[in-house]
Amino acid sequence: MDCAPLVAALFGSLYGSFLNVVIHRLPREESVVSPRSRCPHCGKPIGWRDNLPVLSWLLLRGKGRCCGKKISVRYPLVEAATALLAGALWAKWGATPVFAAAAAIACGALLAVALIDWDTFLIPDELSIGLALAGLLVSPFNPYLDAGPFGAWYLPVFWSARGAALGFLLGWAVAAGGEAIFKKEAFGGGDVKLLAGIGAWTGLTGAFDALMLGSLLGSVYGLALLRAGKAGRSDPIPFGPFLAAGAAFNFFKLLPLGWPFNP
Ligand SMILES: [Zn+2]
Repeated sequence: MDCAPLVAALFGSLYGSFLNVVIHRLPREESVVSPRSRCPHCGKPIGWRDNLPVLSWLLLRGKGRCCGKKISVRYPLVEAATALLAGALWAKWGATPVFAAAAAIACGALLAVALIDWDTFLIPDELSIGLALAGLLVSPFNPYLDAGPFGAWYLPVFWSARGAALGFLLGWAVAAGGEAIFKKEAFGGGDVKLLAGIGAWTGLTGAFDALMLGSLLGSVYGLALLRAGKAGRSDPIPFGPFLAAGAAFNFFKLLPLGWPFNP
């Protein structure tokens, strides 16, 4: 049995543990590297034994060792989701290991985008623009970006930059169109920059697919809320989580690029 995806999942869970810190601190403009992990309730530092991804939360039955207060189930869920994503991406892209690792890092960043936008209705530039720069950096290893018959490294860099620019334009057009139709901001600046980040990894078609999938998921969620009577027609729904989900889905290349117009 090939155990490489399991090793990737293990690293993924550690990355998820770091992402929990990012999700908590980035919107508060706190450093994500220091101080070390602290209890969200009493602020006491957490020892490494109590900071093992998923396991520690289960062993401590969801309570802090320091003060006994409840630790949100979101922490182990983020770690488990990042582990699953990393393992699955390795299973899919293990033949191009640099891209498999980079895609796992990018998908984790998308998960952080989703949860931060969910909490705060904002997408930090560190994540959206960071995604664009990272996409540019690893573009020579990116199987989504064609290096041509001679395998020239600069062609993928060019496609990546073009994808980011066109993703930005696509987002800008959607934002302007949405504002003209709904007379309010339906698609914010953070979403536009996120589309640029997605475009740097999967080109304009990938950004477009993420937009289509995200709109589909967002509509299903919005309609479900309306039907359950849990939200009114004018209640805002963050779009980032759905856009991020669409983009993460795209990293598995399950749909032909350009879906649904290019089946
Ligand atoms: Zn505590």
